[in-house]
Amino acid sequence: PAEPELEALQHADVAALLPTPGGESDKYRRGVVGVAAGSARYPGAAVLAVAGALRGGAGAVRYVGPAGDTVLARFPETLVSDRGPKQAGRVQAWVVGPGAGEDAGTVAEVLAADVPVLVDADGLRLADAGAVRGRTAPTLMTPHAGEAAALLGVTREEVERARLAAARELAARYRATVLLKGSTTLVADAGGAGVVRVNATGTAWLATAGSGDVLSGLAGSLLAAGLNALDAGSAGAYLHGLAGRFAAHGAPVGAHDVAAAIPEAWRDVR
Ligand code: AMP
Ligand code: MG
Repeated sequence: PAEPELEALQHADVAALLPTPGGESDKYRRGVVGVAAGSARYPGAAVLAVAGALRGGAGAVRYVGPAGDTVLARFPETLVSDRGPKQAGRVQAWVVGPGAGEDAGTVAEVLAADVPVLVDADGLRLADAGAVRGRTAPTLMTPHAGEAAALLGVTREEVERARLAAARELAARYRATVLLKGSTTLVADAGGAGVVRVNATGTAWLATAGSGDVLSGLAGSLLAAGLNALDAGSAGAYLHGLAGRFAAHGAPVGAHDVAAAIPEAWRDVR
């Protein structure tokens, strides 16, 4: 029989993926996630990406970018660096792009690192396609339909009409794992062949500013904790969707509420 094209994510699958610290664990062994995000114009994107990353299973979050003071004021546990990604110190995975504005240099520097990288938001527009394809470590791209359309050179409506094909096509073009956001989320592994995972835990209350920035931090943290790009993307989407439900309870929420509900989602999956 032909392999199914789509696979719905189940609670038990996600439970098996979540990292649990043991007696041998220390913060470095749990993984350090680097967040290169935010700009003078959009400092909040950095705060929200860090908020997601702090609840994503890595042992520490390292921040580089112009919003360090804002990030520290909200999350004093963040390791804020005043250097660029290359000099910031060791990380096991990077998140780059939320609120990045026009900082193409930082995106290029992160893409040159030999560790897994999650690229989101402005980072998707600023990333050089050849640099992504040429990476030796895994890349996880997390566009919504509009961002996917811009990358593919088609309209948003064309992406919405054929989401599975769009996710596969991006994964093939960029040789990257692609997480296509929307009312359901699709995760296609690098190359675009193979089963595409579908997540439906979300709620329409997640359609709110900054919600995707929380997901990028969360999934990036799972990458730093050692999950592969397909697993980090799909487990991240699953937890993010549940966190949205728990935060919202049928009422409007802000993205920071979603980040704060990640531990509740994690406990529910466990
Ligand atoms: P962004 O557009 O980057 O802020 O990301 C929005 C986040 O909210 C993604 O994780 C989407 O999957 C999620 N989302 C947006 N709209 C909906 C919806 N109608 N139902 C469920 N999830 C949604
Ligand atoms: Mg976004």
